[in-house]
Amino acid sequence: MRTSLVIANWKLNGDLALVKEMATHFAGLLKDTTTTVVVCPPAVYLKAAEIALAPVNIKVGAQNCAAHTDGAFTGEISAQMMRECGASYVLVGHSERRAIFGESDDVLAEKIARVQESELTPVFCVGETLEEREADAVESVIEAQLNAGLAQADFSNLVIAYEPVWAIGTGKTASPEQAQEVHAMIRRWLRDKAPEQADTLQILYGGSVKADNADTLFNQPDIDGGLVGGASLSPEQFDAICKAA
Ligand code: PGA
Repeated sequence: MRTSLVIANWKLNGDLALVKEMATHFAGLLKDTTTTVVVCPPAVYLKAAEIALAPVNIKVGAQNCAAHTDGAFTGEISAQMMRECGASYVLVGHSERRAIFGESDDVLAEKIARVQESELTPVFCVGETLEEREADAVESVIEAQLNAGLAQADFSNLVIAYEPVWAIGTGKTASPEQAQEVHAMIRRWLRDKAPEQADTLQILYGGSVKADNADTLFNQPDIDGGLVGGASLSPEQFDAICKAA
């Protein structure tokens, strides 16, 4: 019913050499798979990545975009510009954007709109902190993030990523059961808000996904693939994760 999707989030890492390494490593590997593989390099490498990776069936995506379409916003890059540089997907609301760059729910809702207007697919990231988990607030936190960020979203062109903040870059992965519980909750939320898309919309897990835990995570009924940070910087590791999907 749903195909799998694996997205590499390079964050502020990688270079043109890594783009080439990925292209060389993946040559011929994704010919017969139904899994969609996406690499999100730093924005300046998008065009080069698109040119190198399209022939090996890897799409490219942006890690962020402006909440505006154009104007006096020094340093910003619009969704339309990302599209022109080859992006098919844009991450919106990654916990690092929320926490370090102070992106509010309202700004994220604007970004979702800009991405969808540009006919790109937003990957909307949600997740609780450790304090929120310990306070038994996982469900209410995720629900509030979904309600705010996706208030005006078009659910027919959307991916959701569940990334518990305490699992990102920490080596502490959510157990498959913990992740599945939240994914099922997101699916229930979708049944209410967008019943027509609830069964087809892909929900990815992110947070210390590695070659050796990807399999059990991706085997859960509501986990449709992964958003991979650290392990996506190694072509071999990333390849093993894509195979698990
Ligand atoms: P990680 O990052 O795989 O290094 O935990 C995931 C992410 O931040 O998207």
